[in-house]
This record gives sequence, structure tokens and C-alpha cells, in this order.
Amino acid sequence: MKKSFLLFIALGLLFLTCSKKEETSKKEENPFFSKFNTVFNVPPFDEISEEHYMPAFKEGMRQQQEEIVAIADNPNPPSFENTLEALEKSGALLQKVSNVFGVLNGSMTNDHMQEIAKEAAPLRSKHRDDIMLNEKLFQRIKGVYDQRDKLDLTVEQNTLLEKYYKDFVRGGANLDEEKKAKLREINQELSLLTLKFGENILKENNRFEMVIEKEEDLAGLPQAVITGAAEAAKERGHEGKWVFTLHKPSMIPFLQYSERRELREKIFKAYINRGNNNDELDNKANLSKIAALRVERANLLGYKTHADFVLELNMAKKPENVYNLLNQLWKPALKIAKKEAGELQAMIHKEGKDFELQPWDWWYYAEKLKKAKYELEEEVLRQYFKLENVRDGAFYVANKLYGLQFIERDDIPKYHEDVKVFEVKEADGSHVGVLYTDYFPRASKRGGAWMNSFRKQYRLDGKEVHPVITNNGNFSKPTGGKPALISFEDVSTLFHEFGHALHGLLSDCTYNRLSGTSVPRDFVELPSQIMENWVTEPEVLRVYAKHYETGEVIPHELVDKIKKAAHFNQGFATVEYLAASFLDMDWHTLTEAKELDPIEFENKSLEKIGLIPEIVVRYRSPYFNHIFSGGYSSGYYSYIWAEVLDADAFEAFKETSLFDQKTALSFRRNILEAGGTEDPMVLYKRFRGAEPKVESLLKKRGLK
Ligand SMILES: [Zn+2]
Repeated sequence: MKKSFLLFIALGLLFLTCSKKEETSKKEENPFFSKFNTVFNVPPFDEISEEHYMPAFKEGMRQQQEEIVAIADNPNPPSFENTLEALEKSGALLQKVSNVFGVLNGSMTNDHMQEIAKEAAPLRSKHRDDIMLNEKLFQRIKGVYDQRDKLDLTVEQNTLLEKYYKDFVRGGANLDEEKKAKLREINQELSLLTLKFGENILKENNRFEMVIEKEEDLAGLPQAVITGAAEAAKERGHEGKWVFTLHKPSMIPFLQYSERRELREKIFKAYINRGNNNDELDNKANLSKIAALRVERANLLGYKTHADFVLELNMAKKPENVYNLLNQLWKPALKIAKKEAGELQAMIHKEGKDFELQPWDWWYYAEKLKKAKYELEEEVLRQYFKLENVRDGAFYVANKLYGLQFIERDDIPKYHEDVKVFEVKEADGSHVGVLYTDYFPRASKRGGAWMNSFRKQYRLDGKEVHPVITNNGNFSKPTGGKPALISFEDVSTLFHEFGHALHGLLSDCTYNRLSGTSVPRDFVELPSQIMENWVTEPEVLRVYAKHYETGEVIPHELVDKIKKAAHFNQGFATVEYLAASFLDMDWHTLTEAKELDPIEFENKSLEKIGLIPEIVVRYRSPYFNHIFSGGYSSGYYSYIWAEVLDADAFEAFKETSLFDQKTALSFRRNILEAGGTEDPMVLYKRFRGAEPKVESLLKKRGLK
């Protein structure tokens, strides 16, 4: 998915018993219990029915539990082969069913599938706990780890060993019983507090409504926005009126278009005060307790701060490295943001008004300025972006870079008629893997765009297992005799997901756990985001951006406008984002487990960097769900970290040529093929010859 991603959890599995009789009768007809007898062994979709999942999950967990016991009870001294490699080989059935279910629950879900997911979740988490809390198993892994220097392991084997070992240690395996009990207590309290934090925000979002009664208060709003507000009013029992809420699709257009300044202020202030109203939904006490407990846990596990604990696994490694990046970007971004504020203020004066620009004015005047400067007709643009052409454009780039061929096949099973299946081959014709593209929306599919795998690449006992990858989107379907014509944003999204697909397809790893996209969060978007850079290159546009009727290549002026519009308001966007990243890091580099006044803390944090009053940090602490409820604590920086990487990496092509073969081969070997087998910074430096620099990103965002 763009920005968020399903990372495969090799051990995230479950256990349950099932009567012998039930097992045998179902085994015979359950396709998960035998080898997939299809072209390239893709899942036999026409044979799989929903009844097959639960028995396969349960049997898969039972099998793995048996395998784990055998590994833990092995009478021989622990070795890499009889412990780590054995762990890697365990749970094959569970993985098989998890992969298929995971993909289809995203693309072809229904109530029953969601019930199965709900039923399986606690079983899987118990199964995982049973593995992670197996003391004998940990002692064997530790046994191998302690003698790792003498074992003559390959780099990949070393990484695998470290990964398993750290998983256990970070879960508290090395602590004494008293500390283990303390850790469990902290974890439990944290899980309740973070859950409560998220629930409060959800309720805050739903509680507020701005009911508009007079038609003149709709001034400036486009018809589609008004219609949406009328529908929302009807749903909420205010028929004949209009309702706006704090949900972004409702609030943002209001801020962009409403001429009623006092109403913009009202909704904006409600938004930025969520979780901060000193009532039952207030999150201030929750979040300061969360931050304090995280410090306590980090200290217990031997880390100075929570950020040190989290970042250890990321490319960034240490809080200093994150701060260093944020600081480098902050000054130039703030400078541009101030310039933008000046332009907006000038526009206010030009309208004959004399108020000072406030945060609730920014969206409104930015929209006006954008319209005046670079009006882009979405509908005109679309005519140059026929879906099949765009997809072939992405294939063309992969062909020019890596020699890959994409051959559409109609003899490979698929799970929906809208899906297309491609065999991917090397230049010499040898088989790489299979790519499923599933681009159209339907009721059974979740929103957004993402990449996933029916099967990841790895090598088992020297035998190559080829990847089966999917790319999903929700792009415009063909309508009224016209082919599927997609927006420019969707063109970028298609290339982006295709980049993730290449990461999965070109993976060349021994172990499943390290292969393909199984890399740290601040590294995983490099292969995807770099692909977006080819989208607007004239040489590539000539291949794919042709008018769907006339075949005329997209005019230069239009491309120019797209590029310029991409720089618009980037000072604001970057500053708003960076301020939130600083705030995240500040909360998680506390060294003392002490509860603080969140608002005072936040003010100090933002004052320190000099945030201007016209811009509010993208997430204020009481509703910063990413870090206090989601999994992004000390990780909000990773979006821009990945952008620095992709801009800097693409520079290597610009310094040579767009399809320079030496650079492409180096990117393939060091990044795409390597998966998670080695430290990402080592891999990156091997490709680029140096650590990434921020200059290319500053240029790309128009901040320099
Ligand atoms: Zn992505």
C-alpha cells in the first residue's frame, strides 16, 4: 500500500486441536493440504472455498507447534541448521494458507471472510506467544547466537540469527522472572492505554458536527461538496440541512472552499482540540502515561529511551540520525513556508481585507492561489493516461532497466475476472515469477493501493521457490464506451506499487523471513518511490502517455504544469509534517519515566524549532494516533527518510542516464535482490558509494 505496508510476520501463527475424524474427512478435499497442482503452483482459486481456511489454519498451527517442540527438544547441541534453519522451515502449511487468505481478504472479502479473520486472530496471537515464550527454544537460539563468531556464517545467515535472537530478547527473554513479570504488566497497561487513546479519537471524530442551516453559509463550496453535506445531514437526522464533520473528506474541502471565515475557524479549532477538552474523551493523561511507560520498558530492556529501542531495528539506528535528518530539512522548508505565508497574506490584502493569516485561512487561500497559478484540468489529463498504456509504461521501464519481460497468460488461475496475470521473465527467457494486477474497485475490496504476495521468493534445500506477487489499486474503470482513463495521481500510484512488486519479484534470498519486502519500515519505500521518478521523464511519457483516441503524446506544457504544481505549497506540507516528526521524537527520547503536562511539553517542542503561528503541527499530541495508538512511535520520520533515499538514489541515474545499465544492475543487486539480508545502510552505500544526502529531496520538493 502507499505509505503503509503489510510486513510478513513469519512467526505470527496459531495453534488449535481438531478431532482426528474431522481432520481426515476435510484433508481429502482441502486444497491447502496438497501441493497446488497449477501452472507455476499458484493457488487453485476455483478449488478453494471459504470452508477450507479455518481447518487449514488450525492444522497449520498444530503442525508448526509440533515442529517447534521437536526443535526445542532436540537432544543434539544447538546449531544453525538444527535450530535457525529448522525454524525457517517450520510452519509451511500455516504460511501457505495465511498468504492466500491475507491477499484475498484484502481483495475479495465478505462477511464470512472477515469472521474467519476475527476467529483466527486470537488463535494466531496465542500461537505466536507459545513460540516466543518457549524458554527451551530461546536457550537454543541463544546457544547459537553466543558462538556466532566461530560458526563461519554467511552474511544472510548472520542476519537471520540476529533477527530471531533479537525478537526474543526484545520480548524480554533475557530478563529474570521478576523483571519479566514487570514487563508483562507494562505491556498490558500499554495495550489498554493505546487502545483507549485510539477509541477516544474515534469518538471525538464522530461526536462533532457542524450543522449548517442557511444556504448562504454554503458560499464558495462546490456542488459535489454541498451534495455530500446534505447526505451527511440526512444520515444524522438533520434532513434539509447540511452537516460537516471532522473526517478529512468532509473537513478539508470545507477549509479549501468555504468563504465563511468564522465557520472555517469553528471546524478547524474543533479539529485541533480533539482529545484536549478536559472531558471523558480527553487524552492528555493517557498519552503522558504511555510515554512514561515506554521509557520504563525501554530501560528495563537495557535501552536509554523508547526511540533507541524502536530505531535499533530501522535503517536510522539511533535518534541522533533521525534528528540530524529532520534538522537538515527543517530550515529550508521553514524558509519556503514563510514565503508561502507571505504570498497568502498578500492575497488577503488584495481582496481588500486586513486580517492576519491564520491556520484556518491557509487551505482556503492556498487553493485560490493554486487555481490562479496552475489550473490543471483533471479531465483533460486523464485522456492521456489509459490504464493499459500506463501499466505497459511501467513494464517498459522495468524492461529497459533490468531486461524483464511481462507476458500476459490466460492459462493461469485467477480469483476475479478483472484480474490480469503476467509471467515475468528475464531477458534470456528464464522464469522470474508471476504478477497479478488487480486495478479496479469493487465492493469486496478495501480502498487504496497495495502490493502483496501469494508466495515469497526463497530457496529451500537449494531448490528455488519463485515469487507470486499481486498489485492492487482502486483506479477508474472503463465507462460509457471509453477505456479506463486514470488520474495523474493514480499513474504515480501504479508505478509506486509496481516498484514494490519488483522488490518482491527480483528477490534473491535464501530465507523466506528475509526475502523481498521484509525490510525495515524506513527502507521499504525506496524501491517503490524510486519508480515514481520515471513517470514524468519525457522519454517514458512518449511510450505511455498517449491520447486514447488520437494517439498524440501528452503536450510539453501539460507536463510542465504537472511538475510545477507538484512544488506548490510544499513549504507548508513539509513544515507541518516535520513538526510532527520532531514532536514524535521528542516524546520518545525522554529518559525518565515521569508523567508530564502534554500541552506544555508540546509547546516547548514546537517553540524550540520555531514553528510559525500560521501553521499547526500536523498532529497535536492528544490526537497523534500514529504514535500513541498505531505502530509509528519514533517512526513518523520514516516517510521522509524514504523520500530522501529515493531522491538521492534516482540522482544516480540522472548523473549517468535514465536507463544506465551499470547503475540499474547495481540497484538490482544491492537493493532489490538483497531484501532484508543485510543492514540497509550497508546495502545503500554499496549501491550509491555514500550515505544518502538531502539535497536531491530539497530540489525535488522545490525547497532549494
Ligand atoms: Zn509503498
